[in-house]
Order: sequence, then C-alpha cells, then structure tokens
Amino acid sequence: MKVGLKTQIWPANEATVAAAARCLAEGGLVAFPTETVYGLGADATNPAAIARLYEAKGRPSFNPLIAHVGDTAAGERIARFDPTATKLAEAFWPGPLTLVLPKTEDCAVADLATAGLDTIAVRVPAHPVARAILRAFGGPVVAPSANLSGHVSPTSAAHVQSDLAGRIDLIVDGGAVTVGVESTIVGCFDAPILLRPGGLPRGEIERVLGRPLARPPQDPDQDTGQPLAPGMLASHYAPRAQVRLNAETVEAGEALLAFGSNAMPGVDAATAVMNLSARGDLNEAATHLFGYLRALDSKGARAIAVMPVPHHGLGEAINDRLRRAAMGR
Ligand code: AMP
Ligand code: MG
Repeated sequence: MKVGLKTQIWPANEATVAAAARCLAEGGLVAFPTETVYGLGADATNPAAIARLYEAKGRPSFNPLIAHVGDTAAGERIARFDPTATKLAEAFWPGPLTLVLPKTEDCAVADLATAGLDTIAVRVPAHPVARAILRAFGGPVVAPSANLSGHVSPTSAAHVQSDLAGRIDLIVDGGAVTVGVESTIVGCFDAPILLRPGGLPRGEIERVLGRPLARPPQDPDQDTGQPLAPGMLASHYAPRAQVRLNAETVEAGEALLAFGSNAMPGVDAATAVMNLSARGDLNEAATHLFGYLRALDSKGARAIAVMPVPHHGLGEAINDRLRRAAMGR
C-alpha cells in the first residue's frame, strides 16, 4: 500500500462534488456521506480502483460490494429487476435498502466488485451529497463503509479521517449521518430473502410485499458475513473445474493460473495458461483473479493448478478467494 497519499478533506458543496466526481473518474478513492454510514467510493467499473479500495480498507477478503446508483433507471442498466424488485425500489428508493439481483448481460461493473458472482447488490442512497456525487459522476460507484477492516462503521468525516487519512484521495465532509447503521439487504430471487437486517425495518418491507420475508437457509458465513445459500445465492464464486492450490507442477489435463514467472514443470502441456501478474504485482493480480478463473474454466480444463500467491497486501484476500474456489460451491 502506498500510504502517505495526501488526503484532502473538503466541505460538501458544488465544487467539492465536481472534484469528487473527477477523482472517481480518474480511479481515485473518495469517502462521502450516505444516510446509512460514510462510504468509501470507487468507480465500480474500474478494477484497479476497486483493488486500491480493498487495499485501503485492509480487507482480508473480497466481499462483494454494493453498487450505488443515482436512480432506478441506472440500476436497471446493471441488474435485472423482477416485479418484486421494482415494487421495493418504487417504495423505498432512494433509501437504506439494498437489492441483490441477477446481473444484466452487459453489466459494466467489474468482476472484482461482485467477487465473481452472477448477482449484484444495488442501492439508490438518499443522502443529498451521495446523490449529487452519483449524478455528477454518472456511473455506478461501489461504497463499502469508509473504515479500516474490523473497525466500526464511520458516521462522521472525523471517523473516516482517523482510519483512512493517507490511504485515500478525498473525504467529503457532509456532517454526521442520520441512520447510522448499514442498509437492509434483500435478495430478490424466487422468494425475496432478508440477507442482512439494517436501516430499513423488516416490517416496512413486509408491509409493502404483503408477505413475510424469507430468511437465508443458513446463517451468514462467520468469516465474511455473507449469506450462505445454495443456487443463486452461492456465497462465493467457484469454477466448475477443480482448483488445486500451491501447485509446483502442472499435471495432465490441467490449466495453469500463474503468478510471477510462468516457469513450472509441465507448463508446456497445460491446456491453457493465464498469469495473474507477470511482474508479481498483487493489485494487478486482484484485478484479474475472477476473470481469469472464469476464462480458464470456460476452456474446459479438468482442473486449474494455481501457483502460490504471496500472502502480504492483497495476497491475503486473493488467497482467501482461491481457497473458497477450491472448496467448490
Ligand atoms: P457493505 O459492507 O455495507 O458494503 O455490504 C456488502 C455486503 O453486501 C456483503 O458483505 C454481502 O453481505 C452483501 N452482498 C453484496 N453483493 C452481494 C451478492 N451479489 N450476493 C449476496 N450478498 C451480497
Ligand atoms: Mg463495514
């Protein structure tokens, strides 16, 4: 991590909003208020910016992130809304409700932001500063809470500053937030499911739906807080091919996912080879991780041999996801 960035803290006004949008467009990291908590924003379509975001938060795992958009129409460009989702969006957006929906065919959000899943979490926040930044930027913005991993969520610019000064580009100070807890997350699939309780009470959602929300079939994963549910709600991306970690050779019928040099016994017979980062850069490797796993899987290899990836920096999160991919669904 390049700690020692000069983090600007500016009061929310028109000029700051314009600067925030420019910063996002250049791949920068901008903390801004939403009505739930302060979010750390990055361009959802820019994998390098998202890798920087995980690095700045010090997250040991690539949790899927929520894509924030300015209005429902923008949400419909990245996610497929069924009638239930449309009903919830009409009732509660803008507001502290996140919907998890299938991605659209041409969804521009980076694989790294959705952790390789076919579903995407979408929200239209209500805070006027968040809305102004989204409008000025014009695209989806991922914005997990603007704190170091493991710390409490920030409800003021000062909280953000104490965790992230020197690690991000800009903090937009819009005063204290009003809701103070994360958004409620509802998965809209066969039956709407409450994936995470939050700022919008369950009862209000059930009143609009006219029926109770299902609970996830199992409790959330202890490590990640992500729902563990079969089928559409698989908590992590796993390829069809077997994944063999810390490989020292490539066996017959295997593809190779390399890191650093491609050199390895058996590599000439590999069914396919892709390199997460030939120069051994962990941020670059993060941006390629899910896309390359998918690409190798689609080439029909029996198994994917994965070279060891160092465990420092984003390596910890990369190894976490590789381990889950190796466990299967
Ligand atoms: P936050 O930390 O507030 O940004 O919320 C991110 C959380 O949203 C993740 O930890 C997941 O619990 C949830 N989430 C995001 N995307 C998905 C998805 N595609 N499927 C299920 N849950 C998701
Ligand atoms: Mg958080």
